[in-house]
Amino acid sequence: KALDVAQHVLNEIERDFVLGNKLIKISASVGIAVYPDSASTPHALLQMADVAMYRAKTDGRGIFKVYSPEMGNKMRRYHYLLEELRLAIACQNFHLSFQPIVHVEDCAIDYFEALVRWDHPVEGAISPVEFIPIAEESNLILELGDWIMLESCRQMSAWHNAGMRKVKISVNVSGIQLKHRPVHEWVMQKLAKTGLPPSSLMLEITESTLITASDTIINELEKLRKEGVTIAIDDFGTGFSSLSTLADLPIDVIKIDRLFIAQANENPKYNEILNSISELGAKLGLKIVAEGVEEIAQFELVKRMGISCVQGYLVSHPQSSVNVGSKVLQGNVNHIAATGTGV
Ligand code: C2E
Ligand code: CA
Ligand code: CA
Ligand code: CA
Repeated sequence: KALDVAQHVLNEIERDFVLGNKLIKISASVGIAVYPDSASTPHALLQMADVAMYRAKTDGRGIFKVYSPEMGNKMRRYHYLLEELRLAIACQNFHLSFQPIVHVEDCAIDYFEALVRWDHPVEGAISPVEFIPIAEESNLILELGDWIMLESCRQMSAWHNAGMRKVKISVNVSGIQLKHRPVHEWVMQKLAKTGLPPSSLMLEITESTLITASDTIINELEKLRKEGVTIAIDDFGTGFSSLSTLADLPIDVIKIDRLFIAQANENPKYNEILNSISELGAKLGLKIVAEGVEEIAQFELVKRMGISCVQGYLVSHPQSSVNVGSKVLQGNVNHIAATGTGV
């Protein structure tokens, strides 16, 4: 009954109407809480309806949702993590982990990707898959991203000074960071502060961010490339860019999303896709990296497709700076392969 009413309300609100000589379209998101299932006091009922309404908004708007306890749990977890994240940034409860990307041909390290880790005092490690989206929605990624960029450059500069071969450090940069301020100046400041040369830095930007980026952002990235900074398109294949737009983007490296690698051995269609990306990359002079290589069979396949670099648990999990650092001092950073546990 309540659902029929909700649908009726939505239909009524969504009817087009004319204001002056303009056609106006509005839509609504409806949240429903039911007594006594959802809550037992008027105040709590309204709160639960609010939670359901927010879910309707995030699930696509113009729909209605009925409150369920699972929604409440998600909401509470979100707000809890948001508050904890503010604290963690103030207390710097983060560290970086480093995963090598290696050449298919001889497994020599091409570069390291810096991956942020949250060391929560009570919960232990919280995955970036869970907290990066919250940091992005709250703009906390700006402050956290400052630290990540500075620490990545500082660490690589220190390793170079300790005798490491001049490999690059690659840093994930989110779309929020690109929109908020001119990225060229921001990055150049971090490089100047740490003494890392631009040629030792790579930025990883997801395909979905790059294809929706404004001309201003694209220009900023182009300026960075002119300085010698490398730009990689991350999670490639998940953002639905056409292959022709690839030629216009300011990029040097394509990282193929691990979804494609995971599917490739079972589904020959994915083989074809890998093959065309690899051929296109060669034509455009781009380096191709296959992400998420976990098995020998995947490694072999990637090699057959002519892809030049791989990243994945088969070669190495992300490692602590202490681990990488000790290998630097042993002069052993060319082959960091297969070291079991992730950090
Ligand atoms: P990503 O940029 O695609 O990073 C690669 C992720 O795949 C990492 O997860 C890495 O540990 C994982 N990975 C590497 N090899 C394998 C493999 O063989 N199999 C599987 N299943 N996974 C593998 P992680 O560290 O949990 O990070 C997840 C995502 O969180 C990253 O995906 C990135 O989108 C985001 N992230 C991590 N660190 C940062 C950061 O410093 N800044 C920003 N903005 N985002 C970050
Ligand atoms: Ca990445
Ligand atoms: Ca990726
Ligand atoms: Ca990813």
